[in-house]
Amino acid sequence: MDTYKKIIEDIYLDVKEIEDTGKVANYIPELSLVDPTNFGINITTVKNENFGIGNSDTKFSIQSICKTLSLTLAYKLEGEKLWDRVDVEPSGNPFNSLLQLEADCGKPRNPFINAGAIVVADVLISHLKNPMEDFLNFCRETSNIPDLNYSEKVAESEKNTGYRNVALCNFIKSFGNIKNEVDEVLDFYFHICSIKMTCKELSNTFMYLVKDNFKTQTGKEVLNASQTKRINAIMLTCGFYDESGEFAFRVGLAGKSGVGGGIIAIHPDEYCIAVWSPKLNKKGNSYKGMCFLEHFTTKTASSIF
Ligand code: GLU
Repeated sequence: MDTYKKIIEDIYLDVKEIEDTGKVANYIPELSLVDPTNFGINITTVKNENFGIGNSDTKFSIQSICKTLSLTLAYKLEGEKLWDRVDVEPSGNPFNSLLQLEADCGKPRNPFINAGAIVVADVLISHLKNPMEDFLNFCRETSNIPDLNYSEKVAESEKNTGYRNVALCNFIKSFGNIKNEVDEVLDFYFHICSIKMTCKELSNTFMYLVKDNFKTQTGKEVLNASQTKRINAIMLTCGFYDESGEFAFRVGLAGKSGVGGGIIAIHPDEYCIAVWSPKLNKKGNSYKGMCFLEHFTTKTASSIF
C-alpha cells in the first residue's frame, strides 16, 4: 500500500492543478449544483487496505456506476437468459443514443448504455416483489451501508427532463423488449441512477469484482468466478460509453463511469479504485478522473495488461 499511497498523493497534486477543460453535466438540473472543484480518490486493496485523498468522503451522485449493481443483481436472478434481452457489444455510440435500436430490433448493444440499463431495470421489476425496496436492500448489503438511499431530488430532477430515456423506453417496448409499464420502468431506472456514495464507499463496495474476494462487505458471495469475469469484461469493453476503447487504451482496467463525474476501476487481482471529479469531457467521462487513472496505472505499472 505504501507504494500506491505515495503515487496517488503525487498524481493527485499534479492532476489537481491541471486545467480542466470538462463541463459539469447539466441535462439533469440537480447535477449542475455540485461544486466542480471536488476531487477525490480512494483505493481498496485485496489486503483490505484503504487509502483516500481529497474529497474521498463526500457523497456524490454515482449515476451510471450504479448500473454495475443493477446488472449484477439482474444477472444473479436471470442467469444466462439475460443476454437474450441485452447484448454485450460496445456500442461506439453516445450513452443515450437511439440510433442502433431500430436496426437491432430493440435489443440494446450492452447493459451500460441507457437503453441496456433500462432493459435491466425491466428485468429486475419482473423478478422482484418490491423492486425499489429490494434493489436498495441488495445495494445496502453489498456495500454494507445500512442507510444507503435513493436521492428523491436527483430522481425527480431526471424524471422532469429525461426525454431521451422516455423515448428509449417506449421505443424498446414497441419491439416487445420491455415487459412492464413504461412509467414504472423509468421511475425505477431514475431511482437506480440517483444513489449517492463517496469514493471510499465505492471502492469498498466494488471489491466483489476483485478475485479472492467476490464478496459483499458483509462476507456473502455476490457472483461466482465466471460471472465476475463476465461483468469485468463488459466493464472493460463498454463501461465508458463511446470512449471505452480509449479508457482501455489509456488506463487498462475494467471500469464504469457516471455523469456525476465518478469512475470506479477494477484490477481483478489487486484493487478497486474510485475517483471523482465532476467536470466531464465531451464523451461524458470525468476529465480529471481519466487523467488520474492513466497516470496511476502508468506509474504503478498495475494495469491488467
Ligand atoms: N441517469 C443518467 C441518464 O440516464 C445516467 C447517465 C450516465 O451516468 O451515464 O442519462
